[in-house]
Amino acid sequence: MDAAGLMTGALNEEIKRLTGLGLHRRCVEEDLPRVAALTLEINRLKRERNAVICAHVYQTPEIILGVGDLTGDSYKLADDCRRTAADSIIFCGVHFMAETAKILNPSKKVYVPSANAGCSLSEAITAADVRKLKAEHPGLPVVTYINTSAEVKAESDCIVTSANAEKILRRMYEAHDKVIFIPDRFMGANLARALGKTPGRDIILWTGTCIVHEKFDPELIKVYRRRYPGLVALAHAECPTELINAVDYMGGTGDMMRYVENTDAAAYLLVTECGFGELARLKFPKKNFIAMCRLCPYMKSITLASVLALLKDPAPKEVTVPAAVAARAKTAIEKMFELAA
Ligand code: SF4
Repeated sequence: MDAAGLMTGALNEEIKRLTGLGLHRRCVEEDLPRVAALTLEINRLKRERNAVICAHVYQTPEIILGVGDLTGDSYKLADDCRRTAADSIIFCGVHFMAETAKILNPSKKVYVPSANAGCSLSEAITAADVRKLKAEHPGLPVVTYINTSAEVKAESDCIVTSANAEKILRRMYEAHDKVIFIPDRFMGANLARALGKTPGRDIILWTGTCIVHEKFDPELIKVYRRRYPGLVALAHAECPTELINAVDYMGGTGDMMRYVENTDAAAYLLVTECGFGELARLKFPKKNFIAMCRLCPYMKSITLASVLALLKDPAPKEVTVPAAVAARAKTAIEKMFELAA
């Protein structure tokens, strides 16, 4: 067979593979060959460069299923990338996640495909803000959501993700009457409530919010409940407390996916980033999902085309963290692994 014939054969095989993953249901007929050409080339270059692709659940299913090697929420990705044998890590997620991967894997090259993959929570607080908070509340431990810069992590005592924040805060309260929790004020208030604590008295909060999760309307949940009897509503812990009060389950993305997997409701209302619902639909095609979702512009700035461009010219997209900052941030991240175990 000539080179053109081999190419066509490989492309047809890739189309078949993506169809087997259910991705054809997301593409119009003429779009699937274009997606397959991209995933084929990305997977080839990835192997050639001994790179691993981490894909957060808010990425598109084409990225998660088509080219992702390690997939999950921010806790799972941070944990999994510690064990990779690859020379480099391509992070299809936002910048703070890639920084965390770099801190945990200082000898590896880490890249993010988009320069716009920031996060409103991460941008809400600086290391100087944390130092000021510590000066105002001397002796209190600083518990920091993973959605923060390396410099902020370096000023912290322990990092948490939405998957383990409640458990770690509970442990912190065994030794302290009061803690500082940054930067998500809604998640902090939701956790305080779950632990029977009072914001201001038992927990000092910052003002950060997630621009995706802060805007959902709790009134709409009542409308959906009337329309879909037996509906179970799930919301991410970054949502405001009035919204959390209106749903049946609050958790991180990993918890929400496990909840869906282990229950059998008539319908699920997923109050979170849209990528979660898209993935849930592909994973559980027999379940009925109602999306009350919003797109994260930071997460969605990454596309298959940007991943391919990175593989062809990685240097401008490399993520670095100064060694002194990384060493202090690593101590706080490792405290999380210790307390979450
Ligand atoms: S969904 Fe919210 S918390 Fe997550 S990356 Fe986007 S802005 Fe940040």
